[in-house]
Amino acid sequence: MTANEAELVETPADAITGHSTGADWLARYSSSLMGVFGTPQRVLVRGAGSLVWDADGKEYLDLLGGIAVNALGHAHPFVTSVISSQLATLGHVSNFFTSPTQIALAEKLLAITKAPAGSKVFFANSGTEANEAAFKLARRNGGGPAGSESVKRTKIIALEGAFHGRTMGALALTAKEAYRAPFEPLPGGVVHIPFGDVEALRAAVDDTTAAVFLEPIQGEAGVRPLSAEYLQAAREATTQAGALLILDEVQTGIGRTGKWLASEDAGIVPDAVTLAKGLGGGFPVGAIITFGEATSALLTAGQHGTTFGGNPVATAAALATLHAIESQGVLANVLAVGAHLRDGLAAVDAVTEVRGEGLLIGFDLDADVAPAMVTAALDAGFIINSPGPRTIRLAPPLILTTEQADRFLAALPEIIKTAKDAQ
Ligand SMILES: *Cc1c(COP(=O)(O)O)cnc(C)c1O
Repeated sequence: MTANEAELVETPADAITGHSTGADWLARYSSSLMGVFGTPQRVLVRGAGSLVWDADGKEYLDLLGGIAVNALGHAHPFVTSVISSQLATLGHVSNFFTSPTQIALAEKLLAITKAPAGSKVFFANSGTEANEAAFKLARRNGGGPAGSESVKRTKIIALEGAFHGRTMGALALTAKEAYRAPFEPLPGGVVHIPFGDVEALRAAVDDTTAAVFLEPIQGEAGVRPLSAEYLQAAREATTQAGALLILDEVQTGIGRTGKWLASEDAGIVPDAVTLAKGLGGGFPVGAIITFGEATSALLTAGQHGTTFGGNPVATAAALATLHAIESQGVLANVLAVGAHLRDGLAAVDAVTEVRGEGLLIGFDLDADVAPAMVTAALDAGFIINSPGPRTIRLAPPLILTTEQADRFLAALPEIIKTAKDAQ
């Protein structure tokens, strides 16, 4: 063992993977992993709460939480113990069978979203899969005469700036040309209308519309919120036209905004909500909730399925996550620390705008320095993200403390200065 090796962080898989420095791992990465993500920023080996450590032993405050996934931070003791004991008891059964955690999680999701009678849940493994189920639901809202297979509702509406995932159906809903163009033709009938424009929405929704897909806050587009008035107008227009209103809360749901759903305050009942990211507290799990009997009945036996979706371990992880959020006052923490962070950010000279709710925060800079800030922040021991050239996104663990938020706020001016000097 070299002297350097002795300092490396130890992990349970070391016996299988061996020990290496970050630089060695990245060299091995580039010759073995597909290049779709570019070069990873760091090789991470261990986490605890809102902190993570890289292969060289450097510590970071994680203000991105695996992109809004690690709701309770890393290695949360309760979530970890529930996942471990479930795996040691019954790990997978297929959907020829069910298990108590699957049923209890479905019931819990219906309860926290105040879903009306007849509402139902389908479990998937990711956000894009939850949206694929939603896309199929929309197609089943065909609007042809009763008992006929004819479909007159061929149009699906999504917004400019929308991100709904990378599989073909979800990609058709996603707006970004660079993501779409290499894979055309995509499933047809999707139109993208201007963001947040009620008149454009009213003009687009008609009796050929199967569904409208909205993110209450567009995360990938830089944390852009839709107003409650917009969501209410969307509910009204879709109800009038017989179209479904489908809310993609993959990023905004499960406490991220200090509420179970970001759309809660708008006071509307959507036809479906998709969830993933934070739902499993770091374990892969996605879900679609269909609201009311009629919408729930659109997908019938045999029309959709999954091998892994809803398995005992994933649903135990989500149940444990929801339980911990509820029993440890996490939603109140999200509201308090989120407000504190936004106030602090707004007071920074180079920051021109602060957006978002709870602990989903976007802020703009007075120059195109966001990517350079990500690098400077890493060097200073903070993980942040730049969804745009002058936009930073924060989506930290929902258990982030005020003290940790203050540590970032104190370091931010120097991070901005370093990024500007590097330009
Ligand atoms: C991340 C995200 C998705 C895709 O989720 P994956 O788990 O990456 O497939 C879909 N919609 C929204 C709003 C997202 O933020």
